[in-house]
Amino acid sequence: MSEKFDNAILHTPFQSLHVNTQNFLRLKSLEYRLSFSEIRNLIEIAIDLQMWNEPSLQEIWIDDTQKKKILLHVKNFYETTKLKPKSYPQNPTLKTEHKIKFSTVAKESLGLGSCPVASPKTRCCNLMTLDAVESCGFDCSYCSIQSFYNQNTITFDKNFAQKLSSLKLDPNKRYHIGTGQSSDSLMWGNKEGVLEALFTFAKANPNVILEFKTKSHNISYLLENEIPKNIIATWSLNPQTIIDNEEHFSASLEERIKSARALADIGVLVGFHFHPIIVYEGYEKEYEAIVNKLLESFTCKEVALVSMGTLTFIKPVLKKLRQRAIDSKILQMPLTDASGKLSYPLQIK
Ligand code: SF4
Repeated sequence: MSEKFDNAILHTPFQSLHVNTQNFLRLKSLEYRLSFSEIRNLIEIAIDLQMWNEPSLQEIWIDDTQKKKILLHVKNFYETTKLKPKSYPQNPTLKTEHKIKFSTVAKESLGLGSCPVASPKTRCCNLMTLDAVESCGFDCSYCSIQSFYNQNTITFDKNFAQKLSSLKLDPNKRYHIGTGQSSDSLMWGNKEGVLEALFTFAKANPNVILEFKTKSHNISYLLENEIPKNIIATWSLNPQTIIDNEEHFSASLEERIKSARALADIGVLVGFHFHPIIVYEGYEKEYEAIVNKLLESFTCKEVALVSMGTLTFIKPVLKKLRQRAIDSKILQMPLTDASGKLSYPLQIK
């Protein structure tokens, strides 16, 4: 029986559970002869409840002679908790410790391609993504890149400028290229000459709209250098509640809007992404307040784009999040299939 348990916990976030929960689950799996899949389901439920700061598995467990009844009770509690709008604390403890390393390598090729979201099932805006830097120094709980880069190592390509200058684009075509897919576009400033290379590229290719998408307020390089007209700077915006709880280490909402205003003041076109829009207690009021703030602060002519998108996960991100077991309510939501990804049901969207 113990061997079955040890096999069932392989490749699960079992080790990220609090020790008390681990011991409880081990004990109950022996007592009730839980099956392989029952153990795995309970691990997933237990880790989610732990991340959401809800009562633990042992707190909701009610012993019964019928295993079915116990499991049904646990499942019902979990589903009800998952479906209720999440409620964030007023004064969350902000994360402070974040160790990151830098590495500079000679990459084989330039990371330029179609946006990964493009598929026959999506209506594409034809954005192309350019991986100027790999991995990010912010730590948004919902971010996809945690599942494909080593999160603590930020990688620069030492031949980035050279590769970019040799890139041949069709002069008769218009391109929309963004650098905010594999990292934040501005948080590193001009480290390793990244922004300088991108400015040179934008100047040489006026048929490119080059978008810097960011959650930072590091705009000093843009304030100190002449910015090519085809560069636009865009900010992902979320209410401060979400920034405090789910977008760790990023600039505050006020700092983001102030930075956008500072660039608009020197004639740079700016834009705003309401992405991901997250449903929680009070979200309608807080998103509306942002919209009103933008309407007060910018004219239509200063704003190149406003986009909207809801929270969507690729499956490896769910796995990574549960392994990390950080304090986060991000997965406390109904998750339904959205063309192979997971997102809110259409009704909520
Ligand atoms: S700022 Fe963007 S790239 Fe960085 S962690 Fe957040 S979502 Fe990911």
